[in-house]
Amino acid sequence: MLRLENVSAGYGAVTALHNVDITVEEGEVAALIGSNGAGKSTALRTISGLVRPTAGKIEFRGEAITDLSPEQIVERGIIHVPEGRHVFPRLSVHQNLTVGAYSPRARAKKNETRERVFELFPRLYERRLQLAGSLSGGEQQMLAFGRAMMAQPVLLMLDEPSLGLAPIMVEEVARAIDYFRTIGVTVLLVEQNAELALDLATRGYVIETGCIVLADSSERLLENPKVWASYLGEQ
Ligand code: ATP
Repeated sequence: MLRLENVSAGYGAVTALHNVDITVEEGEVAALIGSNGAGKSTALRTISGLVRPTAGKIEFRGEAITDLSPEQIVERGIIHVPEGRHVFPRLSVHQNLTVGAYSPRARAKKNETRERVFELFPRLYERRLQLAGSLSGGEQQMLAFGRAMMAQPVLLMLDEPSLGLAPIMVEEVARAIDYFRTIGVTVLLVEQNAELALDLATRGYVIETGCIVLADSSERLLENPKVWASYLGEQ
C-alpha cells in the first residue's frame, strides 16, 4: 500500500533520512522504532508532504505521491497524528472531532463516525462538551485518534502515541491501534517504546541516524539480540 524507495530528506543542510526503504502492506500495523532524533518523525513528515524528499520515490496504492501537496496527500486518506497530539485546546471535544471531518469525503460520514469514536472512547463522550485543553494527556491522545478517525483514514500514521502516558493510558492506546487494525485501517506506528510497537505490529523497521538498519517481521525483531540490547533491554 505504501512504499518508500531510496528516500532522502532533511532540513536545509541537515540530512535526516538517508536512502530509506519502507513498505507497509494493506491492513497491517507496521512499526518504525528508533531512539531520539533517529529520523522517525521526519519519515512521517516526508510521507505527509510536510518535508520534501531530496531523493527517492513514495508510492501510495500504486501511485506516486512524492510531489503532491500535504492537502492532496490527506485527501488520499493518509492521516498523520503528530507527536504531542496537537488538539485545539479552546475547542470542545465535540468541535475537535468535527474539525477532523473537514474534507468532503469525510463530512458525509461525520455523524456516523462520531458515534463510532464515542463507542471506542466512552470517556470522550462523557467529556464531549469539555474544552480539549482541560483533558488529561491520555484523553488528548484519544481525542487525537478520534479526530484522525473522523478524517476517514486509509493509512493512519501515529507519531509516539504512548509518549508520556500512564501505563493504563498506554493500554488504551494499544487497544485503539488494535481496533484500527480490525476495521481495516493500515497503521504506520512510530514509537520509542519498541516493545509496545513490536507487540502491536506485524512488521518493523529500526532507524538509526536516518538509516534503516533492520527490517523484519516483528516476531524476529523481538528475538533479535541487537534490538534487545539497544531498544528492549532496559524496559
Ligand atoms: P524524536 O522522537 O526525538 O522526535 P525522531 O526519531 O522523530 O526523534 P526527527 O525528529 O525526525 O527524529 O529528527 C531527525 C533529525 O532531524 C535530528 O537530527 C533533528 O535534530 C533534525 N530535525 C528535526 N526537525 C528539524 C527541523 N525542523 N529543523 C532542523 N532539523 C530538524
